[in-house]
Formats: sequence, C-alpha cells, structure tokens
Amino acid sequence: MASIFSKIIDGEIPCYKVAEDQNHIAFLDINPNAKGHTLCVPKKEVNKLFDLGPQAYSELMEFSRTVALGLRKAVPCQRIGMMVIGLEVPHVHVHLIPLNTISDATFTKKEQVDKSQIFELAKHIATKIG
Ligand code: 5GP
Repeated sequence: MASIFSKIIDGEIPCYKVAEDQNHIAFLDINPNAKGHTLCVPKKEVNKLFDLGPQAYSELMEFSRTVALGLRKAVPCQRIGMMVIGLEVPHVHVHLIPLNTISDATFTKKEQVDKSQIFELAKHIATKIG
C-alpha cells in the first residue's frame, strides 16, 4: 500500500509544499514540533534512510540542505535541526526543525498550528529557498 507521503506526492492528499525538484518534495509537517517544521521526502518510496543507494542518499541530503538554508532565512531561530526517525511513516523523510530550545527537538512538545496562517508560512518559506 502506498505511504501517506506517496499519496501527498501523487496529489491524492493535500500538503503545504515549500519546495520540489524532480526527485524530492518538501512540505510542512502536519503536527510540527516548532513553527516551520518541514519534511524533505524522496519521491521514490523507500522505507529506511540507509537503504537508499549512495546517489539517492547524497541527493536527499543536498536537497535538504537547500531547503534548510531557505528555512533559516524564513523562520527566526537559533539553528535548524535535522533528524531522521521514520517510526510513524515508513517512507524516508528528513525532519528540518527550527530550534530555539532542546524541547523543539524532542517530538513531545508540539506547536499549535494557526490554520489561517499556515498557507502564508509555506509561501514565505518557499520564497527563501534558492
Ligand atoms: P516519523 O515517521 O519520522 O516518526 O514521523 C512522521 C512525521 O510525519 C510526523 O512528524 C508527523 O506529524 C508527520 N505526518 C504524518 N502524516 C502526515 C501528513 O499526512 N501530512 C503531513 N504534512 N505530515 C504528516
């Protein structure tokens, strides 16, 4: 069965997209640790990060770096944290999280999402990604 992220990539489920290239997409996490929490996802569905081949792995890291550089321009924070977990969605994804405190990295503290502003936030981040 297709992962929820494959359904997003195929346009069956909506997302707040911030960047896309031929092989990757980046969109806002639906249940963010912090404002601007973004997921970078390869379009080809592979379960585990270290099962990616060397080229796909490097390209995902380079795509994530490009998104992170834009994210830190768009969302004031001390730094962008990068994590790979995958316990909930078995489709490789890199979490990029604007960090101000260690609790932003814990996946226990969650940000209240203001639904009226999330589209504007995604558009703002998208404009900063080069
Ligand atoms: P992980 O698999 O790395 O443990 O966590 C999966 C992440 O994907 C979680 O942070 C969760 O909030 C996010 N997520 C799960 N389903 C959706 C979805 O349908 N849309 C979006 N944008 N994010 C999702």
